[in-house]
Amino acid sequence: MIDPFGRSITYLRVSVTDRCDLRCVYCMAEDMHFLPKAQVLTLEELERLCAAFIRLGTTKIRITGGEPLVRRGVMSLFQGLGSRLGDGLKELTVTTNGTQLAKYATQLVDAGVRRINVSLDTLDPAGFTVMTRWGRIEPVLEGIFAAKAAGLAIKINTVAMQGVNEAEFDRLLAWCGEHGFDLCLIETMPMGEISEDRTDQYLPLSLVRARLRRRWTLTETDYHTGGPARYFDVAETGRRVGFITPMTHNFCESCNRVRLTCTGTLYMCLGQNDDADLRAVLRAGASDAALDAAILEAITRKPKGHDFVIDRRNDRPAVARHMSVTGG
Ligand code: SAM
Ligand code: SF4
Repeated sequence: MIDPFGRSITYLRVSVTDRCDLRCVYCMAEDMHFLPKAQVLTLEELERLCAAFIRLGTTKIRITGGEPLVRRGVMSLFQGLGSRLGDGLKELTVTTNGTQLAKYATQLVDAGVRRINVSLDTLDPAGFTVMTRWGRIEPVLEGIFAAKAAGLAIKINTVAMQGVNEAEFDRLLAWCGEHGFDLCLIETMPMGEISEDRTDQYLPLSLVRARLRRRWTLTETDYHTGGPARYFDVAETGRRVGFITPMTHNFCESCNRVRLTCTGTLYMCLGQNDDADLRAVLRAGASDAALDAAILEAITRKPKGHDFVIDRRNDRPAVARHMSVTGG
């Protein structure tokens, strides 16, 4: 799959549910309305769509959400996709908040998952409860260590928020170094109404990096995971720290990914509204060839780049859907 700007599309991110057991303040409103079940694809439908993408050249699939590991029966999807590893698919991975990892870490490894991303914005138990509105950090830490014990390589994702966790990054970097995890810092993106002021949350990572450099020796590397992060080696820990800066750095030129939601909507760009309704195609009884054609047509509409801006006067997000819908 080659898009109109010559980018090869090899990476599919699949949101398997819009639901979550947490309510991170930058991601969701407290009183979220979730989708009725009939609108959500079954796990079999999701697997059929993923199979079509693999057929068309997708080599990496990331399962995300909402919280993917709260979807009932989700391990059957991991097992189904895992059985395609080596047969077109090269990597199957997941982004999770970690609350269910203690239960599923071994099953993920058995399905063929080797690396996972776990979101953790703070190591402070009280701060964790504030950032997730009601979560407890203990099951998450337990899940992270279960994943490590099961042999999974772990990257910790941390959303940088002004005045909330900005004093935490030295500690997180040291903790990740101690346990052998990479750390990836992410700027908040203006997606979905969240009942808080976005402009208060935004913290540019250029500033965070400059502050980290006071204590750590960071050397830029050309390490890439196929995602949008820029990585630096941390001399003191022997691990890496990545920065995802959609707001300050244009990461679109090397974009190799598209996103599928749990309703079968394909978004060709995280920061644009153009989409393709693959559920309608599936449920109309499309053949594999017709499904492939619908996907290829969508790829011809992949935009050149996102257009994230915070509409400061009206304090409206640039993109109305939440990250939990599109999948982070
Ligand atoms: N529930 C899982 C988790 O938290 O890892 C997977 C889905 S979550 C939407 C994926 C990633 O998106 C998380 O790392 C989360 O911190 C990030 N995220 C959510 N909303 C965001 C926003 N508005 N700006 C930047 N990152 C966001
Ligand atoms: Fe849930 Fe992940 Fe969104 Fe937090 S970031 S509310 S864990 S989907």
